[in-house]
Amino acid sequence: MRKKIKIRFYGATGEVGRSCFVFEKEKTIGVEAGIKLGKNIEFPTIEEKPEILLISHSHLDHVGFIPHLKHNYNIIATKPTRELMPVILSDYARISGFEFNANDIIKRTKIKEFGEKFRVNGFGIELFNAGHILGSAMIKVEDVLYTADFNARGSRILESAKPVKCSTLIIESTYGGREDIIPPLKEELAKLCNIIEETVKRGGIVLIPSFAIGRAQEILIALEAFMRSKRIPKVPIYIDGMIKKAMRIYRMNVIYAKKDLQNQILMSLHDPFLSDFFKVSRHIDRKDVKKPSIIVTTSGMLTGGPVYKYLKLFGEDENSTLVFVGYQAEGTPGRDILEGKRVIRIDEEEKEIKMRIERIKISGHSDRNDLIRFINTIKPSKVILVHGEKDKMKELEEDLISKYDVIAPKLGEEIEV
Ligand SMILES: [Zn+2]
Repeated sequence: MRKKIKIRFYGATGEVGRSCFVFEKEKTIGVEAGIKLGKNIEFPTIEEKPEILLISHSHLDHVGFIPHLKHNYNIIATKPTRELMPVILSDYARISGFEFNANDIIKRTKIKEFGEKFRVNGFGIELFNAGHILGSAMIKVEDVLYTADFNARGSRILESAKPVKCSTLIIESTYGGREDIIPPLKEELAKLCNIIEETVKRGGIVLIPSFAIGRAQEILIALEAFMRSKRIPKVPIYIDGMIKKAMRIYRMNVIYAKKDLQNQILMSLHDPFLSDFFKVSRHIDRKDVKKPSIIVTTSGMLTGGPVYKYLKLFGEDENSTLVFVGYQAEGTPGRDILEGKRVIRIDEEEKEIKMRIERIKISGHSDRNDLIRFINTIKPSKVILVHGEKDKMKELEEDLISKYDVIAPKLGEEIEV
């Protein structure tokens, strides 16, 4: 008989954040080492010290705990993840004020490709494209598939995640709630085009705060294509913050992107990543940024970063538009503005926001229907829900329970499969 696997859940249980699990057979392997971002930073409750860590992708809720590990460990990840980790972790270290050696992380990380079967500590493992950000992986350990963050619908840059046969499915439930239906990408991008057109006509700025890795590249590659085909007016597109670095890593690893994007870069003269439309401000206060233009900058939830410099310059301009393109967590200034607040604290000063506020629903995650379809295609004997707010998980669980053995583990719980 097959030996059972024990899985311990040290985070991402009834919450979005601090993904961290340990699989045990004769030996153990760690899967993910994330932190939870919000008003305070929360760490996973792990005390054991797995010598091998499998990492799905380079977002802080999956890798942020790595710099806090004090034992000797090695990481297994895809090449884009290996290259994006130092970018996001250096930024985290800078903001939090601790020392971080980016080379150390590179040295510890062994690259595995999608579809390459390998064995570690007695486990048979394979990585599959998750379609969430460049190089993001679903991780299959023996007969257990862990989706991590995955997008089953594909994007401008990435191929969609495909269902993988397994007996136990550990699945994210970020958008598992009944209301969590995300409109088709095309529709939302069309909305964005309209907003840009109208704002440029008024002579304003389109300010798009964005997460640095994933969302920003999707938006930029889409805007570049729209501008080239003259679907939106030709104005400078300013790129700021960590987005620039991530953009370079995306370009260097374009082999992990969709075929048509690869072909554009490898076979034709046009390289959207190096487009003339993209500009970088040379001024410390961004005063060289002229209207009308588009600005894509960090941070995505207005929790800091260069977006504040632009709010200072254009926040009171009624002809400009602030466009949210990502999730706004509770307690963040982004969420406050979305809910109607019109003042923001910049450099200890209250500043009124008179820009128009818009929101586009674009996601790197599967929505509720995608999740259910994914599960119904695989038909696993056990479904384990992680990475979702409690009530959303509950709503997803209620719809699955008649067909599947569904578990929403508690923090620290061990499940045998
Ligand atoms: Zn993610």
